[in-house]
Amino acid sequence: MKGYYKTDPWSIIEEGFDPSMHEASESIFSLGNGRMGQRANFEEQYSGDSLQGTYLAGVYYPDKTRVGWWKNGYPEYFAKVLNAPNWTGIDVEIGGEPLDLHKVKPVEFRRELNMKQGYLERTFAIYKGESRLEIAVRRFLSMKRDEIAAIRYAIRSVDYAGPVTFTPYLDGNVVNQDSNYDEKFWDMELSKAVHGSAYLMARTRKTGFVTCMAMGHMVEQNGEHVETQMEVLEKKDFVSNRIGLELGQGEEVILYKFVSVLTSLNHKAEDLVISAVKTLAGAMAAGYDGLFEEHVKVWDEKWAHSDIVIEGDTSAQQGIRFNIFQLNQTYTGTDERLNIGPKGFTGEKYGGSTYWDTEAYMIPFYLSTAPQEVSRNLLIYRHKHLEKAIENAQKLGFTGGAALYPMVTMNGEECHNEWEITFEEIHRNGAIAYAIYNYIRYTGDQDYLAEAGLEVLIAISRFWRQRITWSEAKKKYVMLGVTGPNEYENNINNNWYTNKMASWTLTYTMEALHFVKESHPGAYNTLLDKIHFDPMEEPRAWKDIVENLHFPMEEKSGVFLQQDGFMDKEQRMAADLDPSERPINQHWSWDRILRSCFIKQADVLQGVFVFEDEYDRETLERNFDFYEPRTVHESSLSPCVHSILAARLGRSDKAYEMYLRTSRLDLDDYNNEVHEGLHITSMGGTWMSVIYGFGGMRIREGLLSFEPMLPENWKTLSFKILYRGRVLQVGIGKDKMGIKSLEGEGLDLYLVGSKKHLEPSGSLAADL
Ligand code: BGC
Repeated sequence: MKGYYKTDPWSIIEEGFDPSMHEASESIFSLGNGRMGQRANFEEQYSGDSLQGTYLAGVYYPDKTRVGWWKNGYPEYFAKVLNAPNWTGIDVEIGGEPLDLHKVKPVEFRRELNMKQGYLERTFAIYKGESRLEIAVRRFLSMKRDEIAAIRYAIRSVDYAGPVTFTPYLDGNVVNQDSNYDEKFWDMELSKAVHGSAYLMARTRKTGFVTCMAMGHMVEQNGEHVETQMEVLEKKDFVSNRIGLELGQGEEVILYKFVSVLTSLNHKAEDLVISAVKTLAGAMAAGYDGLFEEHVKVWDEKWAHSDIVIEGDTSAQQGIRFNIFQLNQTYTGTDERLNIGPKGFTGEKYGGSTYWDTEAYMIPFYLSTAPQEVSRNLLIYRHKHLEKAIENAQKLGFTGGAALYPMVTMNGEECHNEWEITFEEIHRNGAIAYAIYNYIRYTGDQDYLAEAGLEVLIAISRFWRQRITWSEAKKKYVMLGVTGPNEYENNINNNWYTNKMASWTLTYTMEALHFVKESHPGAYNTLLDKIHFDPMEEPRAWKDIVENLHFPMEEKSGVFLQQDGFMDKEQRMAADLDPSERPINQHWSWDRILRSCFIKQADVLQGVFVFEDEYDRETLERNFDFYEPRTVHESSLSPCVHSILAARLGRSDKAYEMYLRTSRLDLDDYNNEVHEGLHITSMGGTWMSVIYGFGGMRIREGLLSFEPMLPENWKTLSFKILYRGRVLQVGIGKDKMGIKSLEGEGLDLYLVGSKKHLEPSGSLAADL
């Protein structure tokens, strides 16, 4: 579908309505505000294929696990962020007939996601007989008041005269497409419609989350507010007002629909109706324009810190802004109970639950573009789940405070139920440990170790110690039966990446112990007592593992081997695959995939990327040249890592090819699956591929460092980053780069390899 959406630096634009693309567009044009999200379903009735999707952050249902062959240790349920009651609906009738774009063919159809101001707009015309009507619908989910959404639905008659009705409604009759036993997830508790407003309250089964949505509306005809006749409708789980109007030639009617969406996460369930009505009244008093203005102001602030400007390449510019926009509307970092699901608020797949994606791909974005608390909240989320991670490890037979964080979770409990992933894809523990280090090295917030970080690190290290065993045959420690990031290999021994993560965690935990002991002795002693930690015996065992852990190597070529025995596989290159067989996960049997050498996503290269500082250029190059041609990138998390490494190696073309693949993954639908939702977590990876890849940003020896390299067709790249209380503006051209301090104190940094001092409000430049 490359080229389906128009290229524009600030907007995603669809021109012409293609029903076969509708579900893809529903994903692409999704809106969110951190608290809730909404696929771009049409407001009015649509009888064609559509995936209805309204999601409320943190509201989930434990759908009973379904597996072919039950294995001890499987979780009982898979938590899913649910499709919630529909608040967007506005049925429209023109001349007594329902407007349904599956039946009435629109002309001049245009949909725009305006990323600068955060709204979705749809314009089109229809003919009623010979008479033309023009329709413009705009909606936004307020970034300022995150429990508020507003829709402006305008119908202008060119030469039609006759009746028009609007039926704005709230509808609790929703289902999840993704449901294991076709269960109903919501029970309606209360609903009421009166003249001009209505509310609907629903409770999730089992988890007991309650939501209350309230709606109100106003009608304008030819620019004047009008009081209208309306019929109050209350059906089962459905409340609405039916508003009848007469439209003359050349006239325009506009319905403004305001909605408040509240949940028991933030309000007492018994107060929800009152609170929803009050919140709605506040929003209606501000009015549509007032709400829109304050919403845009928040977006202005977000863009002021997170925008990336690419001159010379509109397609790349649009791609990166799309990613940044979606990231900012998925997670705002104000609530430590929330996290980021791989599809955010744009689809049902992956259940809206938390994966290792957050630590490995998202935290870097929020570290550099949002206040420190935002990434800190993501770390605290895991700290709060530590007890559950220890219970999770216990279920699998681990003891003594060892923690295995879940592969997939909403509340800290494991939800995933494929043994090769649930029990074996344990590298996720390493990503959680590494994120603590990453956060501290970026922010300088060392105290976090004493407050929460060390406790998490020790529990993870305890897990590694038990999971790693001694091999008499090898006279080395080994880690057996794992799945690395490359899920196209299961139950393998000594996955290089997982071993590396484990060994690194053990080392870092020892350093962290030492640091906390010296700097926060009180906290150190309290923690040791709390978790019954033996400061002599445990680190001694960890050190022994670090010194004697087996790392598979390919002796001939000197590459780090993905796992023991990888070279026994038939060695083929992804480029030799017949294009009709790709993606292989949609064409090959699982058996064939497992036995092949094809790599789903960066695995050894993930480790080489994370620990880049430990290796010289030749090592990076050797590994990149070996693994990149065998990688099929069938996870969205893959191209970004390759792009960063290629940029590091000065391979501009490869870096750019991989960049487009990550930044336009959804816009160009590389993996034929955008209709299911967007790849939100890989968008953090896209951000990294610009800032770490082309911008060459790193933290080196505790200092910010830049070694940029622009792709051929980019004239300039500029962006801002937040760094330890400072705002810095970075500008990169073909042969020069500059950095300006916009806010905060001066700092030492590396520019293209030389150490410099940047004064407060000062600027520096360097040749490339
Ligand atoms: C990837 C995992 C990832 C998950 C969610 C899978 O396809 O292989 O690494 O955590 O998707 O994004």
